[in-house]
Amino acid sequence: MGSGTVIVTEEGSSITDFRFEIVDLRIFFMPLPLGHTAAGLAIHDVYSKSNTSGHLWKTLTFVVVLTNLPDIDVFIGLVVHGNGNFFHRGPTHSFLFALSMAFIASNGWRCWSKIPKISGLLCFLLILSHVMADGLLTTSPVSFWWPLELNSTVGHSGWREVIESVLFGAFRDLGTIVVSGVVIFLNRLISHRPIPVILSRLVKGR
Ligand SMILES: [Zn+2]
Repeated sequence: MGSGTVIVTEEGSSITDFRFEIVDLRIFFMPLPLGHTAAGLAIHDVYSKSNTSGHLWKTLTFVVVLTNLPDIDVFIGLVVHGNGNFFHRGPTHSFLFALSMAFIASNGWRCWSKIPKISGLLCFLLILSHVMADGLLTTSPVSFWWPLELNSTVGHSGWREVIESVLFGAFRDLGTIVVSGVVIFLNRLISHRPIPVILSRLVKGR
């Protein structure tokens, strides 16, 4: 967003200063469920060699669950203390959590045949992307090296605040969605695969 500001000089003449106001673009990279999912789809697309468009819903479910898994601490905080911030960004936002959950998710097919065989590395990258995005794109720290460090989000966030943030704060994911879409587009262009419609469907559905 630009603006023209009139500056009056000592001699009394005026010049127009067309310096552009710098908009803090971080407001469009606030990691929320939609943004985490978009980043996960980009990671999945780069990681997967084959065209997975035939398994659209399976892929989407898999990515949504794993990329948003660390925020289960918000749900636990709401149920136990009525405060979504109580445990938020604690142990579930750590390297160890990403590693252990990736191991469980990639071996889930051994217990339940309906769970697809998924690469442990891909599971790890999807969960880790959430922790990294939270840690790098916001000022509130995560507990990356838990149990060596433990952080949590300050303040109170009840059911209403959490639901409002997820439903009506989605515009703040715009930057992440655009960047993820560009990554998928370029990846498909380079690897000569058709452009997927997952993101466009997601955006339309908002
Ligand atoms: Zn989080």
